[in-house]
Amino acid sequence: MTVRVRFAPSPTGMFHVGGARSALQNWIYAKQQGGVFVLRIEDTDAARNKPEWTEGILSALDWIGISRGSYEGPYFQSANAGEHRAAAARLHESGRAYYCDCTREDVQARTGSQYQGYDGYHRDRGLGPGPGHALRFRTPDEGATVVVDLIRGEPTFENKLIEDFVIARGDGSPVFLLANVVDDMTMGITHVIRAEEHLPNTPKQQLLWEALGVKPPIWAHVPVVVNEKRQKLSKRRDKVALEAYRDEGYLAGAMRNYLMLLGWAPSGDREIVPWSVIEDEFRLDEVNLSSAFFDEKKLRAFNGEYIRALPVAEFVDACQPWLTGTGTIAPPPWQPEEFDADAFAAVAPLAQTRIAVLSEIVPNVDFLFLASPLIDEAAWTKTMKDGSAELLDDAVAAFEALESWDAESLKSTLEAVGAERGLKLGKTQAPVRVAVTGRTVGLPLFESLEVLGRERTLTRMRAARLRLV
Ligand code: GLU
Repeated sequence: MTVRVRFAPSPTGMFHVGGARSALQNWIYAKQQGGVFVLRIEDTDAARNKPEWTEGILSALDWIGISRGSYEGPYFQSANAGEHRAAAARLHESGRAYYCDCTREDVQARTGSQYQGYDGYHRDRGLGPGPGHALRFRTPDEGATVVVDLIRGEPTFENKLIEDFVIARGDGSPVFLLANVVDDMTMGITHVIRAEEHLPNTPKQQLLWEALGVKPPIWAHVPVVVNEKRQKLSKRRDKVALEAYRDEGYLAGAMRNYLMLLGWAPSGDREIVPWSVIEDEFRLDEVNLSSAFFDEKKLRAFNGEYIRALPVAEFVDACQPWLTGTGTIAPPPWQPEEFDADAFAAVAPLAQTRIAVLSEIVPNVDFLFLASPLIDEAAWTKTMKDGSAELLDDAVAAFEALESWDAESLKSTLEAVGAERGLKLGKTQAPVRVAVTGRTVGLPLFESLEVLGRERTLTRMRAARLRLV
């Protein structure tokens, strides 16, 4: 039997990192089993779906290594509406489902208590189809539904505790539970790997599989991803969109490595490992049962390591979207014609060891391309103290006298200027850095000045000096 798994996102928003993790787990499982990965877009909630969300999912998957053309699909759930209705009709014909027109209030009035699920009133009343008549599944009164779950063993659900749930609404449209089952069935899905939040649906869905006469799939419910307060990651509260991480400059390799560590670890105390190791070693049945903390700080550190491991030329390539502002990435503060690829190449190795996400490249190098630096006023006030004007005067004079404009000469020259005042290099270079780059932190100063060049450096230092009059 060929293993067939699916990833079935609903295009109702940005692509959630938890979804990306499930997609990768499905992807790896299919690969390990010599199976097929199917992508199905669950787009039946017309009010909440937007085509651009679908496009976002496809491109985010592509980015993370699940590339278009290398999986089956995408299929669209909405295209299978006929099958969903036919299945509902079959369940009705076989007596496994019945019509009901009760409202919640009706049920409550009958049972005289808080609503605790449907009471089965219409089970044997023979109500026919009609506007406002929902179709309910007749759950067995006895026995239990045992779900075979690769992560959780065999969770068992008492059938008598499962209410006769709705499978088609009063307007005849099948609900998610049924559509999802019918699609999995039609697509020959053998293993359903998905988020834990769907576990409560699973006994109902398994009953539907059985009632439709097909052997249910094997399930695997992966634990939820939570924030530092152990709350489920939510799009209103947390940064959950994979696209947001991509646009900030996380590398796809770092991201997918990190996502796979949520609830699982490779052998030998390692965390940063080549993707091929993850593909070999990952085991669904080793995934932890407890929820997984999505630690952005750790992800940043990971990403920094991935950035440092790039050959410089690849790092330069990887920075391009932020240097030019492509796609959904904001453009940099300089004009395209101000950008100087050689100057960038000269400082790239210095930047590569210092940034954790690629977008940080921009504030580190903008001083090289802008006609005048973007002055951070707080940094200016903090740095330009009594004596800064005179120090800048002396530094300008000393730099003007330099024969060779190179990092080493610049450094020893400024060191000497500071020494005359009894200042250490750190204190001496701070006003120069702010004058030239606008900031207190950044790339190594003297290499930066070397690349910026004599004229531009001196002009900026003189301009800063004038501001201090
Ligand atoms: N469309 C559902 C979701 O995004 C998928 C449910 C499933 O994987 O079965 O939560």
